[in-house]
Amino acid sequence: MGSAITQPRQQHLLHVLQQAECELSAQALHQRLRATNRSTGLATVYRGLKLLQQAGLIRSRKLANGETLYAPVERDDHHLICVQCGAIQALPHCPLGTAGLGLGAVLLQGFRPLFHTFEVHGLCSRCQHQEACLDG
Ligand SMILES: [Zn+2]
Ligand SMILES: [Zn+2]
Repeated sequence: MGSAITQPRQQHLLHVLQQAECELSAQALHQRLRATNRSTGLATVYRGLKLLQQAGLIRSRKLANGETLYAPVERDDHHLICVQCGAIQALPHCPLGTAGLGLGAVLLQGFRPLFHTFEVHGLCSRCQHQEACLDG
């Protein structure tokens, strides 16, 4: 990729995201940074996240409530999200990988992908069952 991150601040941001057990919002990241005794303003966190994203090191996805979550790109997660109860399931395979859409196809159109997200919104099996019970 060639976009080396030289700023120790951004490296630290990336490190915290890599250590995190889940995706983090900028606010949550900010809180964790404060806990490690590194006083960083929220605006600096947002700026750092943007730079890391442009460097192709982290990905982001926006939730229905407007909150954005960040994770390192090497964690290639894909989600099935229930619109009713909010349950989130992970997909076992990358639908955009070689077996699926194939990122090579995107490359052919002159677009250089940095990261991708993939979400399917719908009803989980539990909520489908509840709906069926209500209807009957
Ligand atoms: Zn559900
Ligand atoms: Zn993927």
